[in-house]
Amino acid sequence: MFDKLSERLQGVMESLRGRGRLTDENISDTLRQVRMALLEADVALPVVKTFVESIRTKVVGQEIDKSLTPGQTLIRIINDELIALMGAGVRPLNLRAQPPVVILLAGLQGAGKTTSAAKLAKWLKDHERKRVLLASTDVYRPAAILQLERLATQLGIGFYPSDPSKPALTLAREALQEARRSLYEVLIVDTAGRLHVDAEMMAEIRAISAEVMPTETLFVVDSMAGQDAVNAARAFGEALSLTGVVLTKTDGDARGGAALSVRQITGQPILFMGTGEKTDALEPFHAERVVSRMLGMGDVLSLVESVSRNVDREQAEKLARKLKKGKGFDLEDLHEQLLQVQKMGGLSALMDKLPAQFAGKAAAAPQANDKEVRRQVAVIRSMTPGERRYPKTIDASRKRRIAAGSGVPVSEVNRLLKSHMQMQKMMKMMGKGGGLGKMMRAFG
Ligand code: GDP
Repeated sequence: MFDKLSERLQGVMESLRGRGRLTDENISDTLRQVRMALLEADVALPVVKTFVESIRTKVVGQEIDKSLTPGQTLIRIINDELIALMGAGVRPLNLRAQPPVVILLAGLQGAGKTTSAAKLAKWLKDHERKRVLLASTDVYRPAAILQLERLATQLGIGFYPSDPSKPALTLAREALQEARRSLYEVLIVDTAGRLHVDAEMMAEIRAISAEVMPTETLFVVDSMAGQDAVNAARAFGEALSLTGVVLTKTDGDARGGAALSVRQITGQPILFMGTGEKTDALEPFHAERVVSRMLGMGDVLSLVESVSRNVDREQAEKLARKLKKGKGFDLEDLHEQLLQVQKMGGLSALMDKLPAQFAGKAAAAPQANDKEVRRQVAVIRSMTPGERRYPKTIDASRKRRIAAGSGVPVSEVNRLLKSHMQMQKMMKMMGKGGGLGKMMRAFG
């Protein structure tokens, strides 16, 4: 998400770095660039206006911090205002109400409601140990009901079998009765969406809301949608008492306008973000992390979290110790890392979270997809232990032998060796800067 915006803002930041003095002129120039970048990202105009104005007010009223250059002060303010725009801190789901706690999902068709319903159910099951019942009231799209049922079954989560010949309101009532009867702790109600806001849909979802009295009414919005999302947010916000937002498809290279607008338009915090199509691709939304990633400062915190969730700690600690001792990163380590990477949803998911200067280098390495990762694992497995430790000893004839053994062309063996060298360099840099070592120690 925010690829373009991120690029633009980093350009603005870059032009401010090292500036000794801020003048009216370069403040105006910076604000103009920020404004352009936001508009280009399809952030709603009123949001852009208030945002830029509030930066201007803060810059003018700012006591210049002695430890920061004026350029840094401006960067700091932009950083803080972006965080404020999307909401600082993390607001967890309110699960304290009398069970069953009802969560109602609202949003346009295709926003990702059904997927998010399943993801939320899984999240609640895994992280909060809740017994969850999923129900769909999308009687206009029996396929959507089936899809939710399939996901629920896959995840081992309760599903209320909605009969599409009944009215949506009846289904909502029955699902709630079932949740009460079977002592579910949470009921998640997926609703019908249309392609555009229409009065009938709003009337229906209001009736459903009045029937099930949700504790949380979450507006699900596609981060790739720009102005449409803003209109939808406004319409749903007027029809329902929204309590939060789920931002989906943040894994795309979207402009991300909705992400920046939706909080101000609905007045409600973003609670979660969807980061992929799979049911475990849901993360609590941390504006601080999203902004630091946007401004190119990387997101070591999310990285640490995703690493610590998925990685074998012992392996990670071993690598951290090794790097700390200044030992190199050999192919044995790369082999371990590739196996871990497979566990973590692929390298691109990981690289997305690295600071730009490292990610750029690493992105040049060709481990872009899972198939390739599997082949690379096979190549390393065809090497002798000595070769894994000292890849420089691999000569042309051994390369041919390794290629034959792993069923790939020699060029692929070469590519792996080259990319390993690049990674080795990167690891060294991160190790020196304390980056990786620190990161590893954080969960060691
Ligand atoms: P609904 O019409 O609002 O119920 O939307 P769906 O849940 O059917 O989602 C529409 C499409 O978006 C599906 O193809 C989903 O797989 C996809 N989708 C939903 N959330 C995400 C996400 O966070 N990332 C990605 N990449 N795709 C998503």
